[in-house]
Amino acid sequence: MKLYNTLSRQVEEFIPHEEGKVNFYTCGPTVYHYAHIGNMRNYVGHDVLDKTLRYLGYEVTRCMNITDVGHLTSDSDSGEDKMSVASKRENKSAMEIAKFYTDAFFEDFAKINCKKPEIVSPATSNIDMYIKMIEKLIKEEYAYISGGNVYFDISKLDDYYVLTNHQEDQMVVGAREGVEEDSNKKNQADFALWFTTSKFENHELLWDSPWGKGYPGWHIECSGISIKYLGEYLDIHGGGVDNIFPHHTNEIAQSEAYLGHKWCNYWFHNEHLLDESGKMSKSKGDILTVSVLEESGYDPLAFRFMCLGSHYRRQLVFSYDALKQAQSTLNKLRNRISKIETTGEIDKEKFEVYNNKFKEELENDLNTSNALTVLYEVLKDNELNGSTKLELIKNFDKVFSIELIKEKEVDSSLEEYINEKIKERSEAKKNKDYTLADSIRDELAAKGIKLIDTKDGTTYEI
Ligand SMILES: [Zn+2]
Repeated sequence: MKLYNTLSRQVEEFIPHEEGKVNFYTCGPTVYHYAHIGNMRNYVGHDVLDKTLRYLGYEVTRCMNITDVGHLTSDSDSGEDKMSVASKRENKSAMEIAKFYTDAFFEDFAKINCKKPEIVSPATSNIDMYIKMIEKLIKEEYAYISGGNVYFDISKLDDYYVLTNHQEDQMVVGAREGVEEDSNKKNQADFALWFTTSKFENHELLWDSPWGKGYPGWHIECSGISIKYLGEYLDIHGGGVDNIFPHHTNEIAQSEAYLGHKWCNYWFHNEHLLDESGKMSKSKGDILTVSVLEESGYDPLAFRFMCLGSHYRRQLVFSYDALKQAQSTLNKLRNRISKIETTGEIDKEKFEVYNNKFKEELENDLNTSNALTVLYEVLKDNELNGSTKLELIKNFDKVFSIELIKEKEVDSSLEEYINEKIKERSEAKKNKDYTLADSIRDELAAKGIKLIDTKDGTTYEI
C-alpha cells in the first residue's frame, strides 16, 4: 500500500514494523463541545484508512485518546483549559462536561458509520504514565522546571522541526496567533509537560506529582496513551492538518527523547473541511454537527458519501447544495442496487478482477473517488451476473460504509411463523420423528428460508 507520509512529504510504500500487523493511533476529540462536521471529516478519513488496512488483510490495532484535561484555548500552552471554559459556560463539573460531549461525539461517530477504535482512553485515566515519562525526561535533561511548571527544552534536539520541514522555526513564536510570551520558558517554542501554576484560579482537575499538584499538558497525553497501549514502535499516527504543528511536532520530540529511538514511521493528516466563509470553527456561533444535519432531514451517510468523493488530502468546501447533491446521488445508487437480483453463481474470476481494481485505487494513497468509479463500472457491466455484482458491492461497502445494500426488513408475522416452525421441528427431532422434522425444513426451504443448526440452537437465513 502507498500512503502519503507528512514526515517525508511524499507518497511512500507502507511497511509496518511487524509484517501483517499495524499499530495505528488517532488523536481524539477535546470533549469541551460538540464536534463539528469539519472534525468528523477527519474521522471519516481515519476510518477509511483503518478499514482499507483491514480489507487488505492487515491485523490492525487502533487507539484513540479523549482529551478531557490540559488542552488550553491556544494549542501552544496559553490561555485557559478548554474544559474549565466549558464548565463555566454550562455551570457543570468538568467530568460532567466530558461525559456529555464524549457520548455526543460517539453518537455522531456511529451515525456516519465510523468504527470505534479497539482502544479509547481518556487523558485523565493515564496520569501515572505521563508522570513516569516526565520524570525520565527531567532526569535526562530534556525537560526542566521553571516557575512551577515543567517544560520540554526543544534546543536539546537536533531536529525538533522535522515534521514541518523547518517552516515553523522561521516564525517568531510570539507573533503567531494566540501565542503569548511565557517568561518561564528558555526557548519560546518550549512546551509545557506539566502545569502547577496557572493564571486561571480553581482548575478543577488536579493530581499530585513530584512537582506539585497540577495537571498534564495536552501533548504528553497522546504520547503517553500511544506508548502505553500500542508500545514503543508506532506504525501510523494520524490527525487533522492543524495537528502537525505544534501538537504532533511536540509528540515526536517528547516520545523520541523518552524512548531513545525513532517512534512513529508514518504520519497521516487529513485536510480541512471548509464552510463557504473559510475555516470551520466552533467559535462562530452555531456548531454544525452530524446530528444537526440529520435533524434537518439529511442522511448522515450522505455526508460520509460526500467526503468519499474527494481525496482526504484536498480541502473540501461544505455547502448544503453539495450535500443535497450527495444525498440524491446516494439515493439513486442505492435504488439501482436494490433492483439487482441474485442471479447465477458468483463468477470468481470476474470478482477478483474488479476487487483487485478496487484495492489498487485504495492502495494508491486512499483514492476513494476512483474506488467509487470502480463501483459504477461494476454496475454498468452487462456481462456480470447479479450475484457477482452484489458480492462485489457488499465487499466494497466494508470500506465505503454507506449502506449500499439495505438489509431487507423481516416482517414480524413472517418471523413469528418461522420461529413457530423451528419450535415444531425441534419438538419433532426430540420425539425422533425425523420425517416430520425434514418436511418442516423442506416446507421452509420452498419459501426461500434456510435453517441453520448450531450448537446454540437453530437460526435462519432468508
Ligand atoms: Zn494527539
